Amino acid sequence: MGKVCEHCKKLKDIMEVAETKPHEYLRIVYDQMYEMYKNKNLKLYFSDCSFEHFFKELCEEKHYTYDIYMQCCECERIFELGVCIRGCPVYKVLDEKPDINKLAGMARMDKKQCYYDED
Ligand SMILES: [Zn+2]
Repeated sequence: MGKVCEHCKKLKDIMEVAETKPHEYLRIVYDQMYEMYKNKNLKLYFSDCSFEHFFKELCEEKHYTYDIYMQCCECERIFELGVCIRGCPVYKVLDEKPDINKLAGMARMDKKQCYYDED
């Protein structure tokens, strides 16, 4: 994967700051992702919870962890947003695509639903 594209630069910068204040930045990172998703800069690569109703799912606390992987439509970079109900949110910019079958397998083991965007 090459350089981070213009669209991703902003999200990557926000995520870097978010790592230092994980709890405070959860809504900020999510809102940025959501805006980019609505503008079709990002697509949903994989998630084990609803991206659109993410905070609602968190409130329900049916699971201990929630993971969302968004992919840039331009440079194909993957952004991971992971939340652990009793722990700190995790923000990652991945240079390699995670194995979607593996992610789906883990989600199913935890009796979670899997979400993908249609291409
Ligand atoms: Zn990009």
